[in-house]
Amino acid sequence: MTKAIVPFFHSLSETQAAKWRMALKAAIPEIDICEMHELSMADRAAADVAIVANLDPNDLVGMPNLKWVQSLWAGVERLLAAMPDPSVEIVRLVDPQLAETMAEAVLAWTLYLHRDMPRYAAQQKLGVWEQHDLPTAASRRIGILGLGQLGQSAAKRLVANGFDVRGWSRSAKTLDQVQTYSGAEGMAQLLAEADILIVLLPSTPATRNLLDDTAFEYLPKGARIINFARADIIDQRSLVDRLVSGRINHAVLDVFDQEPLPADDPLWSNPAVTVLPHISAPTNRHTAAALVATNLRRWFADGTMPPAVSRSNGY
Ligand code: NAP
Repeated sequence: MTKAIVPFFHSLSETQAAKWRMALKAAIPEIDICEMHELSMADRAAADVAIVANLDPNDLVGMPNLKWVQSLWAGVERLLAAMPDPSVEIVRLVDPQLAETMAEAVLAWTLYLHRDMPRYAAQQKLGVWEQHDLPTAASRRIGILGLGQLGQSAAKRLVANGFDVRGWSRSAKTLDQVQTYSGAEGMAQLLAEADILIVLLPSTPATRNLLDDTAFEYLPKGARIINFARADIIDQRSLVDRLVSGRINHAVLDVFDQEPLPADDPLWSNPAVTVLPHISAPTNRHTAAALVATNLRRWFADGTMPPAVSRSNGY
């Protein structure tokens, strides 16, 4: 029997692409995962599913049968822009391992802020020996914007470490030991109670520039921020103004409008900013490939498509 062919469209480096192909091949050897240059016109015309990572929209031209694409990433804002045709569904990566990795990052950088590490690092540079009061974890209020796969996993990890956690989402939710909010009023309330604010929202028309001058005014004085989601959720000018004035104490930023962050960007040298090179939750190729394999096997066995991204919600 001839193997089914699944196109793999990407703009990854050769090394990255080879690693992904190896992981995918190991996870689903009964399917031929083929890159652009290996596909005939007939293969493209016949394909009803494709795997994508940093897709070039032109890759999908000449594919009348395409029903859905499996992304290798969790965020879909670029893919939604690249694939305006609503007849092709987008399936994003929903990997419990990714949620664990993100929860670990959230805990690590929450502890970094909770234990005043930027302040002690600055003191060390100046040779200053000075001790500051340490609030208990239970008295440190953590607000999480976004209670999806990543936000919920992060919330659980923070609760397990004794923090006082609240979270905000579009639809109302009930979570054990987490005060939950939704709606515009809920967001204002969460912000007012967030000593450390963690952003884990998708980038959508409704969340872009959500954290602007108005929103920041709700935060307690000296609040700290962690953005592990997307840069455009925060109005950067507004954030920097507040970091400079001390209204916001510190920001840990893992995501930027332009990545890599340009060498001359003032954020690099802002003492109130910790710059991370988009490392909070890297995709694990092996667990991701296993999930892709499960999705593809179901599709080829009985035509079941995994849950797709909502184009109207933008995530
Ligand atoms: P998800 O499962 O889709 O969850 C998104 C959450 O945001 C949900 O709770 C959703 O509310 C909430 N939300 C969306 N729009 C909202 C709005 N307008 N108002 C209030 N709440 C809103 O997504 P996820 O898997 O947790 O991932 C979140 C984002 O993290 C991704 O989109 C991606 O951009 C980013 N990410 C970053 C990295 C990194 O390395 N930095 C890695 C992976 C992912 P409902 O629950 O009501 O739907």
